[in-house]
Amino acid sequence: AKAQGPGSFQLFNEEMGQRAVQTLAMQARLRRAIENQEFVAYFQPQVDVRTGAFVGMEALARWLSPERGLVPPGDFIPVAEETGLIDAICDLVLNDACRWTKAWHDAGLPQVPVAVNISGRQFHNSRRLMQTVEDALERTGLDPRFLELELTESSAMTDPENAIAVVRKLRDRGVASSIDDFGTGYSSLSVLKRFPIRKLKIDRSFVRDVTTDANDAAIVCAMIAMAAALNLKVVAEGVETDEHLDFLHGVGCDSIQGYLVAKPLPATEMEALFRQGSPL
Ligand code: C2E
Ligand code: CA
Ligand code: CA
Ligand code: CA
Repeated sequence: AKAQGPGSFQLFNEEMGQRAVQTLAMQARLRRAIENQEFVAYFQPQVDVRTGAFVGMEALARWLSPERGLVPPGDFIPVAEETGLIDAICDLVLNDACRWTKAWHDAGLPQVPVAVNISGRQFHNSRRLMQTVEDALERTGLDPRFLELELTESSAMTDPENAIAVVRKLRDRGVASSIDDFGTGYSSLSVLKRFPIRKLKIDRSFVRDVTTDANDAAIVCAMIAMAAALNLKVVAEGVETDEHLDFLHGVGCDSIQGYLVAKPLPATEMEALFRQGSPL
């Protein structure tokens, strides 16, 4: 900071203090919400580009707050990560996701896996993560081959040796992993190929302008070719239009996720969509 006299330092301190107070208040609200189990999973389907068949779904955290209504993850995940409350929230979302998936399979609905987002911080504490996963599988009776964990490219590459070891441990337990937000971090191919993962998820920021921006189109093609070379499935995120779909179909993308198929849905609506069949 520049030297601006004592007055501005005072102001700076006040602002810092206010932010700290806000974080503390949020932390207290989150603690109460965890106790009251106000966190649930919403579900967004993934479908096969060629056939339109359901091939998977992603579970996305939502806070159903009695005071504030439906709170999106962007408003609480950062504080939850900062304060370590993310583990408890993940427990709730993971259990909810596994419980519904098991119920849908038992009801004869599509036998597709559910993917749950895991933060870099959780990957760091691998003992706790393995225990969390073990508890959820045991409590819900879901077959581990129907659970996937999503790890963002940037958290995978922060400490690749650790991440590779955790992905391997999960795989040995029958749980697959995917790299999320692919293309936004800085993976080297030689590191990426050492991850025993199932899928790459192409980030929405590349899909958005894929039909109008030649650079984005080239990048998406390169990512799909690379995934094929590494024997990985590709899911394109943020697919909103028929034009997006046509492009992705043309370049051999396996599956898509996005508003074109459905927004993230509460469990009852996801179930209704399964019964009704894919909208593609
Ligand atoms: P993400 O994992 O990349 O999830 C995809 C986000 O894109 C979701 O936002 C989803 O609603 C949104 N989306 C999907 N299709 C479309 C589309 O066609 N167009 C547009 N504009 N958006 C689309 P959401 O649910 O708000 O989640 C935001 C982020 O919060 C997630 O990004 C993920 O990083 C994080 N997050 C969500 N749930 C959890 C969780 O349980 N644990 C952790 N650690 N992070 C989570
Ligand atoms: Ca994700
Ligand atoms: Ca993503
Ligand atoms: Ca994202």
